[in-house]
Amino acid sequence: MNEIANNLAQVKDKISAAAARCGRSPEEVTLLAVSKTKPAGALAEAMEAGQRAFGENYVQEGVDKIRHFAEQGKEPLTWHFIGPLQSNKSRLVAEHFDWCHTVDRLKIAVRLNEQRPAGMPPLNVLIQINISDENSKSGIALSELDALAEAIAELPNLTLRGLMAIPAPEPDYDRQFAVCKQMAAAFESLKSRFPTVDTLSLGMTDDMDAAIAAGSTMVRIGTAIFGARDYPAR
Ligand SMILES: *Cc1c(COP(=O)(O)O)cnc(C)c1O
Repeated sequence: MNEIANNLAQVKDKISAAAARCGRSPEEVTLLAVSKTKPAGALAEAMEAGQRAFGENYVQEGVDKIRHFAEQGKEPLTWHFIGPLQSNKSRLVAEHFDWCHTVDRLKIAVRLNEQRPAGMPPLNVLIQINISDENSKSGIALSELDALAEAIAELPNLTLRGLMAIPAPEPDYDRQFAVCKQMAAAFESLKSRFPTVDTLSLGMTDDMDAAIAAGSTMVRIGTAIFGARDYPAR
């Protein structure tokens, strides 16, 4: 087994163990491989090991990879945009990605809805919540969630699938868990009101266990699969 395949197997074991500890089935947790800054060859190794869902942070880098693998005509892949989204880049996301995790204002949702090509299925969107990171400008407060969710649910070319958050880095498990629980409560409440909502995107390499224990349905893992990134996130 190559290193990436080996890492993937270890991450899946960790997901299974974390799920088992809280009485959940591992199938409830989707593994998103976060491949930002990594070359196509690294993604190809993950694909050979069976990985199908990939997360990218930078629009142009993601579109280049989507085109590259589309030309290879391989098995169907799912591409998730997980980076901060500027209005002037929304068209590329609408035209190429399957999911966008970082919708945090109505203006961007309206643009994605207008720009989603007619022949494609609706774009799956998550609303990003700023749950704990006061320094981050991304994400809305929980108090703003209902209004934005209601507006997005009206847009025909988007499907509201749930919530996403990037909690501030925090080494203590109990504190990670407490923040993740707040997200889980907001997710359960949203799910009870919107039938299309089924996804809580929460958990990265360093807080995956706490996120799964709290109820995450999608973990976004980069470092533990592909190793440290070659250049820091911009
Ligand atoms: C980079 C990134 C990840 C992956 O982080 P790791 O700590 O490398 O697992 C997950 N989510 C988002 C939004 C990211 O930008």
